[in-house]
Amino acid sequence: MEEKVVVDGLTFVPYLTREEIQEQVKRVASEIRRDLLGKSPLFLCVLNGAFIFAADLIREAAINDCTVSFVRYKSYEGMCSSGSVKQLIGLNEDIDGRDVVIIEDIVDTGLTATQMIADLKKRNPNSVRFATLLYKPESSKTGFKPDYVAFEIPPKFIIGYGLDLDGKVRNLKDIYVVAD
Ligand code: 5GP
Repeated sequence: MEEKVVVDGLTFVPYLTREEIQEQVKRVASEIRRDLLGKSPLFLCVLNGAFIFAADLIREAAINDCTVSFVRYKSYEGMCSSGSVKQLIGLNEDIDGRDVVIIEDIVDTGLTATQMIADLKKRNPNSVRFATLLYKPESSKTGFKPDYVAFEIPPKFIIGYGLDLDGKVRNLKDIYVVAD
């Protein structure tokens, strides 16, 4: 793990190690497996931030009958929520009767999550569940609670393991928090 990461003039310090992340990914994967083994879930990875978490989680869940798809939403500009959620890539497949598991990197205000779930429910799935790597309960503006959470964190800005600052540093294997 790097001692600090500087990006666009901002300093970030270590927050969660790759080992801690993998331990919680395994726990969440086993919860999903417990709930969905024997069904044919559709894992819906929310781009861009969730791609690394989704890759690890889906493999750990080890449900061979699953399928995987991708959607893209955007609500953040720099380090702040813009307050509006834009859909950039939609879902092409039929989800009628499917058990959908949305995989997100982070739930902050909950606006993206609630909009996404409302959009999906119009398409008659059997169930919609929501898995997130990080959850900031104190930032919620919606009262939304994810079904599966790897880490609950305070309302601070995080990077690494898929999470970016203006598109950068998604590659980091560990998670870093903005220094005070
Ligand atoms: P929400 O709609 O819940 O406010 O925000 C969800 C989206 O905001 C996430 O998918 C992510 O793109 C972005 N976001 C929220 N908090 C953070 C953070 O601490 N770090 C990064 N990199 N993105 C965040």
